[in-house]
Amino acid sequence: MNGRLPGRVAVITGGASGIGEGTVRRFHAEGAKVVIADVQEAAGRALARELGADTVFVRTDVTREDEVAAAVDTAVDRFGRLDVMFNNAGIMGALGPIDRTRLDDADVTVAVNLRGVLCGMKHAARVMKPRRSGVIVSTSSPAALIGGVGAHVYSAVKAGVIGLSNSVAAELRPYGIRVNTIVPGAVVSAMTAEILADGAGDIDGAERALSRSAFMDRPLRPADVAAGVLYLASDDAAFVTGVVLPVDAGMTGAGGTSP
Ligand code: NAD
Repeated sequence: MNGRLPGRVAVITGGASGIGEGTVRRFHAEGAKVVIADVQEAAGRALARELGADTVFVRTDVTREDEVAAAVDTAVDRFGRLDVMFNNAGIMGALGPIDRTRLDDADVTVAVNLRGVLCGMKHAARVMKPRRSGVIVSTSSPAALIGGVGAHVYSAVKAGVIGLSNSVAAELRPYGIRVNTIVPGAVVSAMTAEILADGAGDIDGAERALSRSAFMDRPLRPADVAAGVLYLASDDAAFVTGVVLPVDAGMTGAGGTSP
């Protein structure tokens, strides 16, 4: 078998769009079998159809534990085991000044971006621990590490993803399970298209807007982040656990939020 993930079985939450879709495509190209777990049925099913029999879609709302459990069980039932869990589904959620924060919106942000990751870790560990192997990768954000790049609640829960990952990494290390966090910079995706004022809500608008503020010669695209997730998921990272890997053109480590 060819590729860097030959025959490996992965569940990718938020796999119907953006970074998740990019990772589904890259994992597939590297020989993996993939369960796409997302609330977007049409896009998720179309992607699974396009990639063929080794990719399936399971309609999954990550805030629902039973649905996350079912996505993991689908990987095991259909492909025999779970090697890689990518907890990537996320929303920007509650936005605005702290004194006007709507607590109901905040609860949804916490539910998708943190509770959803917790559900993914719990059910991945359930099936990985008996096999004493596996990799868990979760998506955080520069907003977790530096101020001024995100909404307050989003920043808080993305910091929570790092804390959760490091804590679970310590617990699962004796089981041969690696647990890491990826920190994408500003990536051209549906999420950035929605929040960029001059993005006009579409991907081309997001590409144009992010091109103007890019740290390097072009903005990050989902495939750039997928390459980082691939590294963490692959045997090349066999001794890498409990790390936070920024794929952010230096946003967090090399000079703040503007070029
Ligand atoms: P995206 O909107 O293109 O993709 C997010 C995916 O998550 C969508 O397919 C959506 O349907 C899915 N999703 C949302 N709520 C869900 C739920 N409750 N259950 C299951 N699936 C759900 O955005 P993206 O940019 O690809 O974002 C992916 C991840 O990357 C998110 O966690 C986001 O916070 C993070 N991130 C994005 C950027 C960026 O600049 N785009 C930067 C840093 C981190």
